[in-house]
Amino acid sequence: MLTIKTDTHTHTLCSNHAYSTIEEIVRNGASMGMEAVGITDHFSGLFYGNTDFSHYSHMGNYKALPKEWYGVRLLCGAEADIIDLDGRLFGHDLMLPFTFPGQAPKSYQQECLGRLDYVIASVHNPAFTMEARLAETTQMYCKALEHPKVLIIGHIGRAGVPFDMDTVLLQAKALNKMIEINESTFEYPERVTDICKQVAVRCAELDVKIAVGSDAHSSWYVGRFDKAARMLEEIHFPEELIGNRDRASLEMMINASGVRKNNLIQ
Ligand SMILES: [Zn+2]
Ligand SMILES: [Zn+2]
Repeated sequence: MLTIKTDTHTHTLCSNHAYSTIEEIVRNGASMGMEAVGITDHFSGLFYGNTDFSHYSHMGNYKALPKEWYGVRLLCGAEADIIDLDGRLFGHDLMLPFTFPGQAPKSYQQECLGRLDYVIASVHNPAFTMEARLAETTQMYCKALEHPKVLIIGHIGRAGVPFDMDTVLLQAKALNKMIEINESTFEYPERVTDICKQVAVRCAELDVKIAVGSDAHSSWYVGRFDKAARMLEEIHFPEELIGNRDRASLEMMINASGVRKNNLIQ
């Protein structure tokens, strides 16, 4: 049985449609044997009805949290929406309704993503891709991977956007970044989970790292990867390509990609 000792994708009460506090997520992560847990609440205009800054202000204050909690390394991240074919993320063009004394005006993105450990970039509303050619959607994912804070492309098989697999996977490899295999996706129909499997097979062939995330929206699901692990075992996925298999390997990916030290606020 594959063992994966970190969970890179979890949602808390701050995502509005999720049900646990950060403490509950971390505590349950500890009981599931997690060595590190990443909090990745939505950074998206989609889930909040409007783009009022109060939905996101918690992301600028993660320094209030301990780095180690219940023996778990707590990582502070976000799941940011990819919002256009240039691979730009939500909040790049929204300016804060205030400025800090002595500082230049900042965008939501600078304030909220600026100091995070890492970001997952996902498509949740593919409407803007509907007319796009494959070259454009492929470019979209490649550009998103170039974002200085993005470490992982989220649930790429479930997003519903066709793309050229080899080009995107090799871009992730070149930048020391990861493609997500998302446990929650295995609740979807087989035509969707089949894409995830194809992605995993190709990652193995091209030597591309994956991140396995629960996408937990309540603490109970933290660190549970049964279905993803079963699929990975079925295809004999090499354990060393699971970039988040333990705390040390995840830290190595964070460092190699440079995402933590890339502070968006200069
Ligand atoms: Zn998502
Ligand atoms: Zn999510």
